Amino acid sequence: MEIEDIQSQRDYVDYCKKVHSYSPAINKILDLSEAYVPDAEKAYQEGRKKAVWSNAYGWEVPVIYACDTIPVAFSEMGRLSDREVMLIAEDYYQFPVETCSMVKCTVGQWHLRRNTSTINRILGNSSACEPYNLAWEIMKREGYDVYNNDVVYRGPTVEGKRLEELIRFFVEQIHDVAEWLTGNRQIDEDKLRVEIRRKNRLLTKLRTVLDLRRKHPFYVRSLATILMLNIGLNNYFGKPEEYEAAIDLLIAELENKPVNAADLKKVIPLVWAGGTGQEFGIYEAIDQAGGALLGLRSVPFKLYREDVPPVESLARWVYDNAGAGAGVYARNVLEHEVDKLKARGIILYGYIGCSFASVDREMWRKYFHEKGIPSINLEGSFQTGAPSGQVLTRVKAFVEMLA
Ligand code: SF4
Repeated sequence: MEIEDIQSQRDYVDYCKKVHSYSPAINKILDLSEAYVPDAEKAYQEGRKKAVWSNAYGWEVPVIYACDTIPVAFSEMGRLSDREVMLIAEDYYQFPVETCSMVKCTVGQWHLRRNTSTINRILGNSSACEPYNLAWEIMKREGYDVYNNDVVYRGPTVEGKRLEELIRFFVEQIHDVAEWLTGNRQIDEDKLRVEIRRKNRLLTKLRTVLDLRRKHPFYVRSLATILMLNIGLNNYFGKPEEYEAAIDLLIAELENKPVNAADLKKVIPLVWAGGTGQEFGIYEAIDQAGGALLGLRSVPFKLYREDVPPVESLARWVYDNAGAGAGVYARNVLEHEVDKLKARGIILYGYIGCSFASVDREMWRKYFHEKGIPSINLEGSFQTGAPSGQVLTRVKAFVEMLA
């Protein structure tokens, strides 16, 4: 596979494997990423494993694994999609054209799977976004078994007694989810504790990977970085032990690699903020222009508490991360990353049609512009195929300008 042969997102992953032929660890991570959805569907169809479509990040992941079920990230179906799949959402379900492409891809994929033997349960989350709320309602009508937990929101002054009430409320919500998953409100606390420890262990290991990447900025290129962190760290591609083994191997590879002074001199450190789309060509453009994505705002690095009962630990983690004014907190994280990495620029990325994220991006762009930190604000889509030439030209021009 050569760069000129790429027609689809799966081709990008194959190309990425070739680029990383020196690293068994990165190849393993890319294999896991590629096989995630098909393997989970196969295990479900063969009756070897229970599986549900879910957001597959945050508190849901430890709960679902603790209930002996695979969380299958529905957003990962984006890379299996194309324009035809998007059109199902627009033409058949009458989603307005301007609706976020991530949602349209997901709806199209679920439509194609209706009344088949594949995974037919969806764990939604009413705190996500309006287009997805609509998608889940439609899929209920189409025969899917859909469950949504209630909205989670913590106002700016909510502390003390009021916060404890919210935590008690969410603990009950988590038990409701367990009941939907297994028919039993009780959660095996030992299993959940194992999952929380796994999550904390992996969060710590991935921090180590990111630290090592500062010495070896080109070892894990941009697409592999995004897949390893965005999906891998969140839900382990449905195979927790294999993912962790690959991360251990990667740490060993990075630790044993001699530092290349020339690489450190020529690298253009960048921070990525916002969503991580399926337009894999953007990552390739960053690599070709000499950039390295060394900081990512969207990676959740907050540990879960291990000093409280496990269900309560999940609820506290949610409310610790769900404060109002999150755009400003996220900006602080971005600024910290920029300072730590001595980043030369920020790439702000979001999906066309996502109104709330575009407000955050515009706010960040203005703030960093005033501080003299260059940024580029990209809006992309979720469908597969090559990104538009205009986006690639802008990305390359931006990174080369920073050189
Ligand atoms: S990008 Fe925005 S509109 Fe699209 S799924 Fe995410 S939150 Fe919803």
